[in-house]
Amino acid sequence: MANKIIRICVLAMLCLCTLTALCSAEQAVHELQYVKAYDTKEDGRDVYRIEIGVSRDRLEYRAGTKAYLPNTLILDLEDTIPGRLRHETALSGSAVKVKAQEVELKHTRLQINFKDAVENHDYKVYTMEANRKERKPFRLIIDVEKEKKRGAGSTEGVKGHHVVLDAGHGGTDSGAVGPSGFTEKEATLAVAQKVRDILENSGATVLMTRDSDRDVYGPNATDRQELQARVNVSYRDPDAEIFVSIHCNAFSSPSANGTETYYYPGSSQGYRLASLLDEELIKAGGLLDRGVKNANFYVMRHSAIPASLVELAFITNYREEQLLADEGFQNDMAMAIARAIGRYFGER
Ligand code: ZN
Repeated sequence: MANKIIRICVLAMLCLCTLTALCSAEQAVHELQYVKAYDTKEDGRDVYRIEIGVSRDRLEYRAGTKAYLPNTLILDLEDTIPGRLRHETALSGSAVKVKAQEVELKHTRLQINFKDAVENHDYKVYTMEANRKERKPFRLIIDVEKEKKRGAGSTEGVKGHHVVLDAGHGGTDSGAVGPSGFTEKEATLAVAQKVRDILENSGATVLMTRDSDRDVYGPNATDRQELQARVNVSYRDPDAEIFVSIHCNAFSSPSANGTETYYYPGSSQGYRLASLLDEELIKAGGLLDRGVKNANFYVMRHSAIPASLVELAFITNYREEQLLADEGFQNDMAMAIARAIGRYFGER
């Protein structure tokens, strides 16, 4: 209602303007100049900002979504032409696409397409005045709050920290296979993704060696190539502080069971990390505590940062295979790992 009244007033004013010939002959048309996106903070919260330069101020806009386009935020801009945004612009490696179209004369519709439903995000649309000092024009701003992973919890002590998570195996390498056919690569990815969601919800930066069912180096690589590729991922984040590799145990006898964690011999921080992981995993999962052990595993030996490898449970044990495939158990293990990581940073 208020919108309508404002628009009627604007129209009335424009008519008056024309009648009294106070305005110049050309109408005030806004032209879109550029679009860019970047991460920033707004009111202390992490936001993804889409900034659109506009040739003049006093832009009138309306923002909303349409039920049949759940992934698209639609902005209707009055007295605006698409200018340089006439073609679709891909932002953030195509995760977001922006398209402007003049749907009626001097009425431009801006469509911002996200990877998932707009309602998954909190967003705010507003304008920023031109800033001559910074040589910035009048801008239309869309701040999208970083997605909260629904269902995932959060934990203390990880905010601002950088963690590398390695979901063991993947792609052509299934890892160990349980008696019912559940694979280690499925369990490790599911748990790693849940740990990531919890850590990100809690303000940490997480790098995953893999985020899908794939080989990190490439199909059918040697173990050494594949494991080194995982270590190499951690170098992509120079601020990475710890490396946590997630695996499931296997043994020829199906009766073998329990949880164990590993560190590289001589690494005191690795030992501390492995101890906290073991403690939290046992508390959360309630499986046999096989203890904290040291081993010469490739990813720990070659990691430049403190590392630990966890064996959540024995996938070759019928009962533990069922647990590993169970989402509730996966959530508990993920929360335990996240909590241990929080304690690792907090108890230093
Ligand atoms: Zn493994």
